[in-house]
Amino acid sequence: MILNRNEELVVPAPALSPSYDPWDPLRSIRQHGKHVLTSVEMTVSNLCNMRCEHCAVGNTLVTVEPEKLPLAIMLKRLDEVKNLETISITGGEPTFNKATVQDYIIPILKYARERGIRSQINSNLTLDLARYEDIAPWLDVMHISWNYLNEDDFYAVGFVRSAHSVGRGTAARMYDRMMDNTIKLSKGGLFVSAETMINYRTHEKLGGIHQLIHEMGCQRHEVHPMYHSAFAANLPKISLEQLRKSIHHLLDVRKKDLWMLFGTLPFFACNEQEEDQVLIRRLRTEPNVTVRNDPDGRNRLNVNLFDGQVFVTDFADEPTQGNIMHDGLDAIFDRWTHHPLHTRFNCFCDTASCCGPNLLVADAYYQDVDFKLRKAK
Ligand code: SF4
Repeated sequence: MILNRNEELVVPAPALSPSYDPWDPLRSIRQHGKHVLTSVEMTVSNLCNMRCEHCAVGNTLVTVEPEKLPLAIMLKRLDEVKNLETISITGGEPTFNKATVQDYIIPILKYARERGIRSQINSNLTLDLARYEDIAPWLDVMHISWNYLNEDDFYAVGFVRSAHSVGRGTAARMYDRMMDNTIKLSKGGLFVSAETMINYRTHEKLGGIHQLIHEMGCQRHEVHPMYHSAFAANLPKISLEQLRKSIHHLLDVRKKDLWMLFGTLPFFACNEQEEDQVLIRRLRTEPNVTVRNDPDGRNRLNVNLFDGQVFVTDFADEPTQGNIMHDGLDAIFDRWTHHPLHTRFNCFCDTASCCGPNLLVADAYYQDVDFKLRKAK
């Protein structure tokens, strides 16, 4: 029997699997009858050793960063979240600074473990293995980005927005280390989930990228379309037709023993197009494939650990919804659910397991559509 710090019984959650994904807001809306806060993401670093051309938080990256808020304030705010099920730690590269690993990341992960909630870190895994091994015992999901077939692909995207030039040899060493770390951490039993974005560079390479992710021993391959925020704002956009084609191809060639998670897809069960309905049916019926509704603004808030500001997502230009120095997170979330940006897309079709588009998806592909007048077919 395990008791948490409040002497409450901690019931071990089931293993993460296609039938148990606690980050999906579908679970909370079904359980509570409305969107509630079950997930908190924390930005613990704006430092990074890379400057990828597609970086969704690229505009916030710095070379010197200020002090963070005291950890105790963050832990208190987490403690107050009544229905908390998951946390995520993000950056920049969250582990860039070793003091952040020891003084913030590990204590937050220990808190999560003690409370029986699930944790994820978003990392590029290009630094020394030791700092990831320090984290691994307390972590549920190591989330990485993998958009490459080889070191040339990595070099082509990884330093495009860098203020100084980075040599090809340096990039190749980082690529090798990232691959090596992924293999070693996976072998050691850590759940590594590799995310690939579908964009103008990757949409015809997804099969090969998937093969590499499988060979490295990752336990999940996540696939999301790239949306045009921050550094990615001016990159070429691919069409819905190209997206559909690339997803079908990936489903044709994928390794069926590897869990595939698709997210932020712009295809909805209320769409008229037969080709969308065909793809949706296929995604629903393929074994070991899941489609996650986007947590941002549905069941998740992001907290910036440097100033306490709370956002609906760590990227995009939505205004802050509050500050943990003044308000609890449940109260901030409650306020957000009455915000026009939330109510504009707050549709839900239970039969289709769909919570509607997020702001980025709607702005990219459905600017004039009122989803609240639609229903899944
Ligand atoms: S929840 Fe919204 S987007 Fe999804 S099928 Fe229903 S109306 Fe369409």
